[in-house]
Amino acid sequence: MRLFNSLTSRVEEVVPTHPDGVVRIYGCGPTVYRQAHLGNLRTFLLTDLVRRALEFEGRTVLLITNITDVGHMTDDSSGQAVDRMQIAVEDEGLAPPEIAEKYTKAYLEDSAAIGILASHVYPRATDHVPEMIELTETLISRGHAYIADEGSVYFDVRSFPGYGKLSGNSIDELQPGHRELEVAQGKRHHADFSLWKSAGAGRLMRWDSPWGEGFPGWHVECSAMSMKYLGERFDVHTGGNDLKFPHHEDEIAQSEGATGHRVVSIWAHGGHLRLSGQKISKSTGNVVLVSDLVEQGIDPLAYRYLTFQTRYRSEMDLSLDALEAADRGLRRLRQRMAGWAGTPPPAERSDAASGLDRRFREAVADDLDMPRALVVLNEAVSSAEVPDGEKYALLASWDSVLGLDLERSAREDVELPPDVQDVVRRRDDARAAGDYATSDSMRERLTGMGYEVMDTAGGTRVRRRA
Ligand code: AMP
Ligand code: ZN
Repeated sequence: MRLFNSLTSRVEEVVPTHPDGVVRIYGCGPTVYRQAHLGNLRTFLLTDLVRRALEFEGRTVLLITNITDVGHMTDDSSGQAVDRMQIAVEDEGLAPPEIAEKYTKAYLEDSAAIGILASHVYPRATDHVPEMIELTETLISRGHAYIADEGSVYFDVRSFPGYGKLSGNSIDELQPGHRELEVAQGKRHHADFSLWKSAGAGRLMRWDSPWGEGFPGWHVECSAMSMKYLGERFDVHTGGNDLKFPHHEDEIAQSEGATGHRVVSIWAHGGHLRLSGQKISKSTGNVVLVSDLVEQGIDPLAYRYLTFQTRYRSEMDLSLDALEAADRGLRRLRQRMAGWAGTPPPAERSDAASGLDRRFREAVADDLDMPRALVVLNEAVSSAEVPDGEKYALLASWDSVLGLDLERSAREDVELPPDVQDVVRRRDDARAAGDYATSDSMRERLTGMGYEVMDTAGGTRVRRRA
């Protein structure tokens, strides 16, 4: 499988660096002071897709998603910077661990609703402060960091020659934020960023450190936790485009500064989601949540399906029309699946099905070209050469990477209430015996019970009428 590497601006093969062959992935996770919106979730879907695509190829994956529950400031360069968690504490009247717990749970539920497979570990920043302190000490001892005013520690960007290699920002071009403040903070260069901050008065979340009471910077969290769980060299690191700078640029400086070598092989960044004119959310204004979709009667997986219609690196517009069209399209696909479900696949795969399968796999492996994969899927659906049973088998296997629960309608058909099953059985028996009068009356019974009746090669299939 190939992925576009933001660091080299090239599409590169994902090759596991560890001899065990396991592909190690770190995806920047949610900041848990509020609900994740569909934009955040688009980026988390990218990570899920990378993981599923690799597993689809038969690889074993180890995926880590961090939970940021401390240190993500509103604006790192301003004197008024406040920890986002602190704002939520004031707004909601809950303690920081309660806020973190509440939104971690919401994030996991939303992720599951859009078909994101659980990561193997969800390390929380607040559980890894000792590791962050240790990394900061290493950086000081290697001459990459220094202690400034009353117990804050900064990374010295000029000590790391590669600073800027991911984002293309050179140190000289970076504009100072608030020069007076930066001088007051004791920074040597305005681009230096904090690894550790001394805790001011009123600061709720604070830890002891060799530099006094304080709290870790945001970027150091991801260096410390990625290397703790994945080792000093790992394969793929994901995040949204906005994280390239400063978050990932700083992570590279920290991790490479501490180890003296390259740590991440491929940096994969996803394009942003934009809301177009229409208002989708009733309660939250400009932010759309999974619960907004549910409220509008849209299957959350329709959002997942919709994201596949745009290449992951491009920006994507979200509109209610597009969501509703995706919802209809997904339902139709599932109903087609249910219609094919009764027919067993042929003993040997047809050439047409093999060709489609090869093209689908190629599209996924080619830097996750999901729009192309969907073209192949549509061809399969309408193919005159592929028998129904084989179509079912093909789409069911592709669903391990699509994650759209394509077998849902077929499954619901099987899980019919016993009285409905009974009528279906009696109708099939009557038809087998050539008793068309009984067959017709059973059809009417089913219609009266609220079901749509279809005749397939496998017998009567019914589906609840929408
Ligand atoms: P946060 O919870 O704010 O730390 O963000 C979590 C992830 O969502 C990060 O990887 C961001 O890059 C990503 N992100 C934020 N806004 C958007 C957006 N509008 N579209 C896509 N990804 C986003
Ligand atoms: Zn991160």
